Amino acid sequence: MEWVPGASMDSLKHAVQQGKKEIRVGDIVISRDTFTVIAGPCSVESREQIIETAKAVKFAGAQLLRGGAFKPRTSPYSFQGLGKEGLEHLAAARQESGLPIVTEVMDTQDIPLVAQYADVLQIGARNMHNFALLKALGNINRPVILKRGMSATIPELLSAAEYIMHAGNHQVILCERGIRTFENSTRYTLDLNAVPVLQELSNLPVFVDPSHGIGIRRHVPAMAKAAVAAGCSGLLIEVHPHPEQALSDKEQQLDFGEFTQLMAEVRRMRGK
Ligand code: PEP
Ligand code: MN
Repeated sequence: MEWVPGASMDSLKHAVQQGKKEIRVGDIVISRDTFTVIAGPCSVESREQIIETAKAVKFAGAQLLRGGAFKPRTSPYSFQGLGKEGLEHLAAARQESGLPIVTEVMDTQDIPLVAQYADVLQIGARNMHNFALLKALGNINRPVILKRGMSATIPELLSAAEYIMHAGNHQVILCERGIRTFENSTRYTLDLNAVPVLQELSNLPVFVDPSHGIGIRRHVPAMAKAAVAAGCSGLLIEVHPHPEQALSDKEQQLDFGEFTQLMAEVRRMRGK
């Protein structure tokens, strides 16, 4: 049956609904029954910065390290990421910390390079509708974390996941990261409604990124905990050694102390 955006998924047979999804990254199992935290800076800025962050987030309890090497910036004059050099720094941080790496791929032509380094490939919000990229990632054997487009509906997000899975790659993690609404007191509006709804409509793990979702550092912990209460399978949190000096998203990154405290609170909430 043809997919109709906004249609009920009840009568449709979709890959996103089939089978229990367990995504393995080394020893880590990402699924509906596990809880996983991905943490690290918005952008990889230097070898020292990413290694220092990897050690700190690991000590605080994160299981995967994130960091952008290819950055989708609103302005062409903003820092665009270190590219290949950033990927090399990420590999060094993995070596030092043992944490697997999550990093964004923005363009189909970069997939072979990024896949050489990344354990999980991120599709950013601005690329959720990039069907060429979705199809190409469907052809590789590597987990993908797919962020919701800032103006995408829940069925459109599922349809984007369907593209990857239809092409053969069933290792898809969904990530709610905030949508555009009339509200302008926060960067985006974190749509936590998406957590139970995506869980009902699919079998995929659903993560939440409160850092981009609210965009205000002091409010990130509250929304991270709200996401845990909503039942997400994991969090994606931006963490930087010196957030005020970050080359991208400096308003929303937690410092090591704030992240460590948040992790303790999340563990307490989850009774772990
Ligand atoms: C990011 O994770 O740094 C990022 C650019 O996220 P998004 O695509 O959700 O804006
Ligand atoms: Mn960011």
